[in-house]
Amino acid sequence: MTRKAPAIVILGTGSLATARKIQQLYPDALIHGLQGRVEDVDRSYQEFGATVRQLYLQDTPIIALCAAGIVIRTLASLLLEKGVEPPVLAVAEDGSAVVPLLGGLAGVNLMAREIAAGLGVAAAITTSGELRFGTCLLNPPSGYALADLELGKRFVSDLLAGESVRIDGEAPWLADAQLPQSDQAQLAIHVGCDAREVSAHELVIYPRCVMLAVTAVVPELATVVRDALRSARIAEPALACLLVSDSLMADPDLHAAAAELGVALRFAPAAESASALAAQALPQLLPPQPVNEGLAILVSSQPIDPLQIGRARGRLAVIGLGPGAAELMVPAVKAELARANDILGYETYVRMAGPFRADQVMHCTDNREEMQRARHAFELAAQGRSVVVVSSGDPGVFAMAAAVLEALHESTDPHWHAVDLEVLPGVSASLATAAQAGAPLGHDFCVLSLSDNLKPWSIIEKRLDLACQADLALAFYNPISRSRPWQLGRALEIVRQHRLGTTPVVLGRDVGRPGQTLRVLQLQALVPEDVDMRTMVLIGSSTTVAFDRPGQQPWVYTPRWYGHKP
Ligand code: SAH
Repeated sequence: MTRKAPAIVILGTGSLATARKIQQLYPDALIHGLQGRVEDVDRSYQEFGATVRQLYLQDTPIIALCAAGIVIRTLASLLLEKGVEPPVLAVAEDGSAVVPLLGGLAGVNLMAREIAAGLGVAAAITTSGELRFGTCLLNPPSGYALADLELGKRFVSDLLAGESVRIDGEAPWLADAQLPQSDQAQLAIHVGCDAREVSAHELVIYPRCVMLAVTAVVPELATVVRDALRSARIAEPALACLLVSDSLMADPDLHAAAAELGVALRFAPAAESASALAAQALPQLLPPQPVNEGLAILVSSQPIDPLQIGRARGRLAVIGLGPGAAELMVPAVKAELARANDILGYETYVRMAGPFRADQVMHCTDNREEMQRARHAFELAAQGRSVVVVSSGDPGVFAMAAAVLEALHESTDPHWHAVDLEVLPGVSASLATAAQAGAPLGHDFCVLSLSDNLKPWSIIEKRLDLACQADLALAFYNPISRSRPWQLGRALEIVRQHRLGTTPVVLGRDVGRPGQTLRVLQLQALVPEDVDMRTMVLIGSSTTVAFDRPGQQPWVYTPRWYGHKP
């Protein structure tokens, strides 16, 4: 079964050695360590419970190096809800015990055996069927689907009660199982893709050996597919994938149908008919059966691995990491980073987004090559890869999202336009800085980049002047740099023409990153030397005020009312 890479979660340095041994078994696994207690891990977390629960909800296999009881109590609140159940194991800190806890149908016992073998101990397997037969009958390997879990549980308990069984069809993975087989048995394990009523005496397992080729997206495609399978007397779970002409790659109805059917979508260059499309992808098999002009069914004697057919629709996600701290990264961005094949961006941000697994490719570039990076991202995604372009903060705020859209707009390549493109937001530096100071942007405000690399300085002066006239609070990105030394001073001159010297100013430097600083001062005291390119400058409007906060920089806020207090 292709599973997500496991997460190895540890609480202290005492378990680091065992964690590393387990990591050798699963090279893609990341070690998560408690911040402040263990250094030198792949990911640091602040709260054990929240971290483990999040991993669980993301369907990530969890190997926790701590007492089984801790893991059980941590996940207890999630267990009553039906949903994902990834493998969860507790492993003794010193590696002397391996206890599979959850995820019996997701292969936890197999993992327990692998880890135990790696650590030279015995796994604490407690699943009776697994113990007796050496395999979990209810968890067939990838490429096979169990028809009915509840009936399956009854079937296994009958078998445990002493009944014998016969195997009807091909189940190569059961060759080594210690099953009480007999040709006269009442109970049967039936392996086949035919649609049939499942009886209580049968464990029905469908090989995913059917592919449907689609060359036209018709209304109600999912229903049309179901009808076609029914007429061909094929069980729906036996459907491995839809193979579709690549001209239909971006069709939203197609994606809706695939989601409804719960099957993988694969794509191939257009052919003259659906049968030809299917035959082209799997030429070694029996000829496909046309259903109608746009649909053909192909049945193989073996499970079909969708990953070996045609190619996937590529994906390009332009993501915002937030200011830096992991807690300020939105969960959708974390999930996107986990699924990415390729990560592109300015080196500092790519490093900030990591660490990455051995199978993920990092493409680090100079900060200035935005359009080139955007085009490179489309080239990779158009090959069917899952690509991430990283920005700090929000990707739409003086960052990569606009460049990526511009590259797409300029392109006439249909493969680029067929890419599944998504922009995922992040916490922008102005908002992260404002939050630390209180609410300086609590009323209308204006966001400006003071960089004149890509726009004329005269425009910046004009916008700044008008924003000041409009009495907006101001947020300056890119306030100063070695190649732009005088611009901030000039900008402050303009601001001072409109604002009192006592106007509160907030300077946030490396906010959300190690060594962050926050300063609150008055506009009259602000000099360009206080600011560098890693600083966010927030300047209040006429209503912005500051007041003391014990032991820290003052609170700053801009009230939501304007004119007279209501
Ligand atoms: N997309 C980013 C902004 C990129 S422009 C965002 O939404 O935050 C780069 C400028 O943003 C820097 O010159 C600095 O002014 C500001 N900046 C970015 N990250 C920052 C941080 N962690 N702390 C303070 N300012 C930051």
